[in-house]
Amino acid sequence: MLGDSEVRINHFFPLYPTFPHKTYPQSPVGRGPAIGHGTRDGTCDGAWTPLCLGHGLAPRYLEAMKPGVNPSKPQVRGSIEVITGSMFSGKTEELIRRLRRAELAGLRVLIFKPEFDKRYGADAVVSHNRNSIPCHNIHHSSQITEFINQQNHNTSKDEGEGLVIGIDEAQFLDQDLIKVALLLSRQNHRVLIAGLDMDFLGQPFGPMPALMAVAEEVTKVRAICSDCGHEASHSHRHTSLQSTRVLGAQEHYRPLCRPCFNRALNQANSDPGFF
Ligand SMILES: [Zn+2]
Repeated sequence: MLGDSEVRINHFFPLYPTFPHKTYPQSPVGRGPAIGHGTRDGTCDGAWTPLCLGHGLAPRYLEAMKPGVNPSKPQVRGSIEVITGSMFSGKTEELIRRLRRAELAGLRVLIFKPEFDKRYGADAVVSHNRNSIPCHNIHHSSQITEFINQQNHNTSKDEGEGLVIGIDEAQFLDQDLIKVALLLSRQNHRVLIAGLDMDFLGQPFGPMPALMAVAEEVTKVRAICSDCGHEASHSHRHTSLQSTRVLGAQEHYRPLCRPCFNRALNQANSDPGFF
């Protein structure tokens, strides 16, 4: 008999039938139809066994969804993921989505952003459509490792426990962030980094190019070009401000595709009053 403790639920399989004509196999461990799958050895590689709702599928699923009480939370593996793209492309939204999924899995999540970014709140990472998650502000990347060491010391947490570490607006941090990300991944932490790949002149931005090189996963997200409606890869500043440390806001920036960006740059260069 297959016991509840030996079952790993496949969360991707729908729990409840959505179409009346859909049919399900008979569960080998119950009387009802099998509407999900589980494995005997608790891994995703084992042989899948159909399971009915009555054999612990729903209670176990609901328990697994409670943050912090998941008895079989997945083991974090050291890795570096980069989410990048132009302004208004949904980088922070994607970062928050991945961090929330980690929280749902019962993992310890820590989030950092440069102190400089206080657009929506000093202690939260907030996307342009106001989705937010609490964070710690830093002015140097070394503070990330200092913070983790301090927290492990204060809470007597096992230093070997892998954390999920989110870093937003990483283009504004220093070049030491590359060393910090590599160190954290060696210590078995999953490092998620979001930031602009290019500045308003189309040049590689801060530590982002090197972070993209050392990451095993790079996701480039796209905005929509405000001129032609194609996918946008560049952030164009349509005001005469010069510093790269001007944060994204619609009054200063607009997303453009490469041809529209090149056209806008040529126009700006031929207009002596612009720069
Ligand atoms: Zn365009």
